[in-house]
Amino acid sequence: VAKAAGKNAVRLWEPSISDESSARFMLELDLRKALAHGELAMHYQPIVALDTGRIAGMEALMRWHHPTRGFVSPAEFIPIAEDTGLILELGEWAMREAFSQAAQWNARFGPLFVAVNVSGRQFRDREFASKAESIARASGLARDMSELEVTESIIMGHTEEAVHLLEDLSARGFALALDDFGTGYSSLSYLKRFPLDKLKIDRSFVKDLPDDLEDAAIAEAIVGLARTLSMRVVAEGIETEAQAQVLRELGCQYGQGYFFSKPLAAELMAAFIAENHGQRMAEPGLGTSCA
Ligand code: C2E
Ligand code: MG
Ligand code: MG
Ligand code: MG
Repeated sequence: VAKAAGKNAVRLWEPSISDESSARFMLELDLRKALAHGELAMHYQPIVALDTGRIAGMEALMRWHHPTRGFVSPAEFIPIAEDTGLILELGEWAMREAFSQAAQWNARFGPLFVAVNVSGRQFRDREFASKAESIARASGLARDMSELEVTESIIMGHTEEAVHLLEDLSARGFALALDDFGTGYSSLSYLKRFPLDKLKIDRSFVKDLPDDLEDAAIAEAIVGLARTLSMRVVAEGIETEAQAQVLRELGCQYGQGYFFSKPLAAELMAAFIAENHGQRMAEPGLGTSCA
């Protein structure tokens, strides 16, 4: 606290400090306390097998309930956590939470994978692979049920190191998914060098389906590319039945989005799984009432 206050005092003397950066700095101070104060939670969004309509796994997404501001979007606080290095602590907590939660659900409901997002800062930590493995082992989750999501920008920058780290993670039993695919560098010749298991089609290519023929062609090309490279495909941001259908027809294996369910707090996710796992979803809109 003394250190944080000292840093604050220094910042206050800077004459050029903008309102925006001071607001961000206040958020940074609060974020430092958020974990200890129990303000963070992991929520879970179902990932559904498009051919059967059954839940196959889930993505774990971090949520912050700020004591006075209420819900703060991860789009706002994750970049702050990255800049300050706090993401190392938050990222470890996220894996511990998500893997042990998924281990309980696997024991109760049968096999379901869980995917945890990894930031660039974590990816550059030399200890990352061994930390992730020990957290996954301690959780009791079957090793083939843990997945890590990375973005193109994280792995395209330093190709050699990235290939090495991804191979290490893969050897330790993690499935690897490339998040937001199509929005980054998209260097297809590099793609074959990474030991990736899944491509996640970014929701910008999904939102105007089925009408937008260019987006349909892009989705089809990604599915074809993945098939050639022996990867599976997840379509992100599916909001309508028509989108789910066209993606299923294109051969995309998995779907994720508000059409199936928004990200859910753990208790609500357990109810969603109980309702849907192992049976065809009669009403794919179930569970959408809750953020
Ligand atoms: P992401 O990994 O691409 O996660 C998917 C985002 O799309 C989530 O936003 C999810 O709520 C949203 N989404 C899912 N389905 C739909 C849909 O049908 N329509 C729309 N409009 N959106 C949908 P969220 O939870 O706000 O997270 C934003 C980003 O923050 C994530 O994007 C990820 O990059 C980052 N993030 C979230 N949790 C973590 C975490 O634990 N660690 C790290 N490093 N990053 C995280
Ligand atoms: Mg993700
Ligand atoms: Mg994504
Ligand atoms: Mg994203």
